[in-house]
Amino acid sequence: MRVLKILCPECGHNAIVSKSHRIDPKLSTLYCQCRNVECGHTYTLALGFGHTISPSALTNNRLVKYLADHLSPADHQMVLDLLEGRVR
Ligand SMILES: [Zn+2]
Repeated sequence: MRVLKILCPECGHNAIVSKSHRIDPKLSTLYCQCRNVECGHTYTLALGFGHTISPSALTNNRLVKYLADHLSPADHQMVLDLLEGRVR
C-alpha cells in the first residue's frame, strides 16, 4: 500500500500532516510540518477530490435500489423482461 508522501514546498524534505480539517466530503485542509529541522516550515495543503476512475459499487447499488423502488408496475415488468432476455 502506498502512503501519501508530502514534500515541503520550501526545501523539498519530507513533511508530516499534523492536523486535518474536513471542509466537505470532497475537500480537506491538511496542516503540514516540514521534518527538516533547519527549515521548520509549517503550511496548509488543500486535498480535493479529482474525478472518479471506477464508480463505487455502493453508488451503483443505491442507484439500482432507487430506480427499482420508483418504477411503475409496467416499467418494472419491462426491466424483468430485459433481464430475462425476452426483450431487446
Ligand atoms: Zn522544509
